[in-house]
Amino acid sequence: MQVALVTVGDELLAGDTVNTNAAWLGERLADRGASVERVVVVPDRVADIARVINELRAEYDAVLVTGGLGPTHDDLTMEAVAAAVGVPVEEHDEAVAWITDHTDYEHADLVDGTTHLPKGSRMLPNPAGVAPGCVIEGIYVLPGVPDEMEAMFESVADEFSGEYRHVRTVEADEPESALVERMAELRDRFDVTIGSYPGDHVRIKLQSTDEDELERAAAWLRERVEPNE
Ligand code: ATP
Ligand code: MG
Repeated sequence: MQVALVTVGDELLAGDTVNTNAAWLGERLADRGASVERVVVVPDRVADIARVINELRAEYDAVLVTGGLGPTHDDLTMEAVAAAVGVPVEEHDEAVAWITDHTDYEHADLVDGTTHLPKGSRMLPNPAGVAPGCVIEGIYVLPGVPDEMEAMFESVADEFSGEYRHVRTVEADEPESALVERMAELRDRFDVTIGSYPGDHVRIKLQSTDEDELERAAAWLRERVEPNE
C-alpha cells in the first residue's frame, strides 16, 4: 500500500515547529508494511491544501492529513478536504454525540465548527482531545497535536498494510566515498535495497521482504567494512 502524507501548518513551513508528525507516521506505516511515497508540507490555506490532497489521492492508495482541525481561524483542513472531494461540510451527529458522551463539553459550549465534517465522512473520535478527525474516500484527517494525532492514528492503523520490509543496519567507520564499489557489488549480488547515511560514521541501511536474503547481504557487507566501534 502506497501512502502520501500532507502536514498542514504555516508554523511547519516557518520552522517554528519541527514536523514530528511526518516522522512518527513514516515509522508507524513502515512497521505495518505500508510505504510512504510523499510527504508534503502546506500552509494554512484552503486552496493549497485541497489542491495537494487532490493530486495525491489520484496517485496513492491513501492520503493522511494532519493539522488544522480545530475551530480557530487557521483551522481550514476540513473545508479543504470537503472541497477536494466535492461535498459540503456539515454538523456531524456522531461527532456531537461522541463529544457529549466522552468529554466534559456540552454541545452548546463548543466553539462553532468543532463538529463540522465533510458530508458523508466517517467520524474518527479524538481520544486525547476534542476536535474529531474523519475518513472520506481514502483521505484520513488527523489532528496536528502530536499526542492526539498518534492516538487517533492507532484507531485506524489496521487499515494500513503491506508486505513488511525487514531492516538490517551496518555501520562503517570509513568515508562514504570509499564504500562506493562495495555497495555496488552488494547491489549486484543480493536482492536488497540500500540506503547510505553519512554522519560521524556511515550508517548503511539494507531492506528486503526476504529476511534470509537480507541476513546474507548484511553478513557479506559486515565482513568487508571497517566496523564502527
Ligand atoms: P487544535 O484542535 O488544537 O487546533 P489542530 O488539529 O488544529 O489542533 P494545529 O492547530 O495545526 O492542529 O496544531 C496544533 C499544535 O500541534 C501546534 O502546536 C502545532 O505546532 C502542532 N503541530 C501541528 N502539526 C504538527 C506536525 N506536523 N508535527 C508536529 N507538531 C505539529
Ligand atoms: Mg490549529
